[in-house]
Amino acid sequence: MDKVIQVMKDLFGWFFGTCFMLLALGLFFGGAVVGATASLLFGLGITPLRRKLMWPAKVSLIVLSCLFLISCGSLAAIASTEEPEPEDPDKEEAASKMQVHFIDVGQGDATLIISGEHAMLIDAGDDSKGTKVQLYLKNQGVEKLDYLVLTHTDADHIGGADVIISKFPVDNVFIGDFPKESDVYRDLLEALKDKGVSYSTPEVGDTYALGDAFFMIAAPNRIYSDPNNSSIALVLQNGVNRFLFTGDAEEKAEADILANGLNISCDVFKVGHHGSNMSNTYAFLTAASPLYAVISCEADNSYGHPHAEVLNNLRAMDVKVFRTDEQGSVMATSDGREITWNCAPSDSWKAGERTQNSTDASERDEVYTQQDREEETVPEPQQPVVTGNYAVNGRNGKIHMVGACPATGTGDGAMANPVYFVTYEEAEAYSMQIESNPDNRKCKNCYK
Ligand SMILES: [Zn+2]
Ligand SMILES: [Zn+2]
Repeated sequence: MDKVIQVMKDLFGWFFGTCFMLLALGLFFGGAVVGATASLLFGLGITPLRRKLMWPAKVSLIVLSCLFLISCGSLAAIASTEEPEPEDPDKEEAASKMQVHFIDVGQGDATLIISGEHAMLIDAGDDSKGTKVQLYLKNQGVEKLDYLVLTHTDADHIGGADVIISKFPVDNVFIGDFPKESDVYRDLLEALKDKGVSYSTPEVGDTYALGDAFFMIAAPNRIYSDPNNSSIALVLQNGVNRFLFTGDAEEKAEADILANGLNISCDVFKVGHHGSNMSNTYAFLTAASPLYAVISCEADNSYGHPHAEVLNNLRAMDVKVFRTDEQGSVMATSDGREITWNCAPSDSWKAGERTQNSTDASERDEVYTQQDREEETVPEPQQPVVTGNYAVNGRNGKIHMVGACPATGTGDGAMANPVYFVTYEEAEAYSMQIESNPDNRKCKNCYK
């Protein structure tokens, strides 16, 4: 009977001993040298071989293997509580798939971003595009918005927002606030009120999570005297992929973003102000240094967007350009490392042609409730005359009587770009294209 038990013991010893030695082999090739040694010693210790050893060797074998097992265990415990080694900084945090849809809304902007279960809409097109944007969101399975960012209060950005606010629950509404006396602005405020949703203008440097992605506010950096420069700008980041949105921010706001030292380097630049040359300065494009650019505008729009200078600069920088006027809605997908597109970039490099007397700073058939728009630039006049009784400041629309104030002279205080008219009516008609507020029309010096 004792013999049977002994044989059983030996069999168990060999079986488990071999198991531990095989485990040792696995651990060794897995790189766990300490664990492999411990496992090997323990395995050897429990095989019947141990009976061939002298008792001091037996004891030291058991003690050694116990020590190894304990140290292994504690090493593993330490390793699991330690922060993971920061790998190459390029890898950064885990990212999941993010889609960026540049929705074709004609002359205007609307960009939908989907990251996991989370969604953000940047601008909503003009008044006539609300339903189109709503249906686009529905087709993408969007049921609610984590964020609605209305870069600024121009109609081509907020026009469709009332529809979106009434049809979708929205957690956060950000507006590049520049109150206007326009129907679309009133509709927007009303829709917010109806839904009991409040809005705010975020601070530069604030960051917000959107699923695994996040975005950082880059503008407005101060108060401006016009809606375009008041645009909210943001950098959206998923893994290492970065997308830059600047609304219709113009040269001044771009310069302030750069002056603030904000990192705007990006893979994808949603080209400012529909490709206008009042935005997208060379300095700004260089700092952004995108691989891809997306222009959102309407074919044959009266502003001549996108302007040739901007296209030329993008081309010289070897940027691949996508455009909604040629390609309809365009979608980029980021997996955190790579960006892929649903279509090939445009290679037309076709600039728009300005028709009518559209000004770029415009989209401005509305009256601003803020004034002081001294620095605006404006279009060429329709029928300028070289001299006349009235001189209109081509930048701010002020009407001067020739000879009545220094602005119409040639010395100090002379305007840089006067446009002359014979009759007051002509002067006023031209001025109205630049300055819609009648209170700002007449020079206070000339008309005391
Ligand atoms: Zn716009
Ligand atoms: Zn605008």
